[in-house]
Amino acid sequence: MRYGGILDLSTVDFPKKLCAVVFFVGCPFRCPYCQNYRLVEGGVEVKPEEIAKKLRENYLIEGVCFTGGEPLLQKLDELAKLIELLKDYGLAVKLDTNGYYPEKLINLVDRLDYVAMDFKTVPEKYAEVTGKKDSYDKFLKSLKILVDSGVDFEIRTTVVPTITNESDLIRMGEILVSYGVEKFVLQQFRNEDVYDPKFREVTPYPREFYFKVGKKLKEILKEVIVRFEGEHVL
Ligand code: SF4
Repeated sequence: MRYGGILDLSTVDFPKKLCAVVFFVGCPFRCPYCQNYRLVEGGVEVKPEEIAKKLRENYLIEGVCFTGGEPLLQKLDELAKLIELLKDYGLAVKLDTNGYYPEKLINLVDRLDYVAMDFKTVPEKYAEVTGKKDSYDKFLKSLKILVDSGVDFEIRTTVVPTITNESDLIRMGEILVSYGVEKFVLQQFRNEDVYDPKFREVTPYPREFYFKVGKKLKEILKEVIVRFEGEHVL
């Protein structure tokens, strides 16, 4: 597995659990606002057993969050092995994903305890933001898998001016409702150290924008969360 390191303890990466975070290297997308772009290349090759061993010695955690990059870029059998080992240690497993690998997600979803999947923007802007023509179709396939699986999941959008405006977000909420999604998270965009230097000049929306749009979304969705300097359930 191509791996970039472990954060030993996080209180914010797994709902209601203390967790460690495993950073996998590699991503098929090139989102201009990506803050983890250094994890898109590089890293070291390790076996699932080596990662599991490091996590087994961590007595503070209740779970492990797989993030990246895109964790599902890794080989399916190695991801399955790592999940199996972590479960044997009594740890819950959360997956962060961009939704580009539905064929892997469908194989793993029943073994996961929580999934956070990105919804980048409205359909017509998707390919431009991700750099992949088929990224929206694959996102929808992954969305259907999550809804049908019964796993606890959230759909989340980093709200970036020039990529998503208020009407885009409302449309995205309507798309989610049409698929039976209950939980939509609006995440704060920070322009420091992002992949595309032009986006370092993009001024983030103010806090009030997130709450204004979040309240409108709450009229159609069961649960709306704003992550802006902390987590706010609307
Ligand atoms: S999907 Fe995530 S890790 Fe990949 S480029 Fe986009 S923001 Fe970065």
